[in-house]
Amino acid sequence: MAVETAPECANLKALRLHGRKNNQLDDVAPQKCGHDEVRLQIAFCGICGTDIHEYLGGPIFAPQPGMKNKVTGIELPVTLGHEFSGTVIELGQSVKSLKYGQRVIVNPALDERHLGMKPCSPCKTGCYNICKRSVTYGLSAEGGGFCEQSVVKATSCIPLPDSVSLKVGALSEPLAVAWHCIRVSGFKQGQTALILGAGPIGLAILCLLKVWGVAKTIISEVTEARIDQAKKFGADAVVNPLEPLTGDREDEVTDPVVAACRDLTGGDGVDVSFDATGMQSTLDAAIAAAKPRGIIFNVAIHERPLLLNLNLLAQQEKSIKAGISYTNEDFHAVLKVLAEGKIPAEQLITSVVPLSDVLQGGFMELINNKAQHVKILIQPDPDV
Ligand SMILES: [Zn+2]
Repeated sequence: MAVETAPECANLKALRLHGRKNNQLDDVAPQKCGHDEVRLQIAFCGICGTDIHEYLGGPIFAPQPGMKNKVTGIELPVTLGHEFSGTVIELGQSVKSLKYGQRVIVNPALDERHLGMKPCSPCKTGCYNICKRSVTYGLSAEGGGFCEQSVVKATSCIPLPDSVSLKVGALSEPLAVAWHCIRVSGFKQGQTALILGAGPIGLAILCLLKVWGVAKTIISEVTEARIDQAKKFGADAVVNPLEPLTGDREDEVTDPVVAACRDLTGGDGVDVSFDATGMQSTLDAAIAAAKPRGIIFNVAIHERPLLLNLNLLAQQEKSIKAGISYTNEDFHAVLKVLAEGKIPAEQLITSVVPLSDVLQGGFMELINNKAQHVKILIQPDPDV
């Protein structure tokens, strides 16, 4: 069988993490394409909050200086980027599931199926997103998306529907995070929800909750630009928790977010609180705003442990759940939503920056003007 191969190519540009506060745009040799892998011409790759954490406070998921990742063996520097779309430009000999020129997105999470190892106990039950050996392209496995090309397992690629552009397709990873959270939270059509934080994940949850048929959404957010975004994406109420309540209330609630949740739900509070911020104050509000037997779902990454008064849960049989990753099922669901145009996906993209400007126009822009942005996409080759 004839195998399409890419022409021998010169070194590629790649954004690599060398260590804390040390990202460099390097010239790297192209990766080799294994028999079960494909080479992608990267179209777009989103910058994730995780990438910023790796740069400012890391390495976290990337290998520590002088250490190798135990599963993949990779060490610093690591090519970053795990939210990417691209076109297949080379196929490994045993790849039958994809075609040359096919447009795909990548589920960057790898488990034993990709690694050729025996499945761990979560994987045996299909919970690949909590694999004990989970590693991720662009963090702990070689093949990040902030590069002109990436070599990934063919089984990591999910074909893009014809009606979804490569640009919008690059949003599918953060959308899959949000979809998974909604799915495993226990949320049901017709219920109410509070979302704490209107960053990329908070807004993704807002957009996708509407697809799930949410009755009412309340957003807690402190920055003006993100308050505007939350309103634009259709939250029923957007509350700044730093603006004090005026007047006395019969229920003696003093937190404006909790007050809004009670007022919009007939007094009981919301069915599900999604904490996409991860501060003590947001956890406290998430618990207080949930109705009796309600659910608090954490999707935030925490820099330090928080205090939790379990009495507040026990007295009203509230429960806390948490999650951060996804399975292919979530990607397929999100791609269907995008293909049917059910969410204003293009509006989630606030900037598209060439790879040559990834440091200033991408990372530093997100660090210095975070609230102005939802998602910044890096486009390695604007001519492709
Ligand atoms: Zn596993």
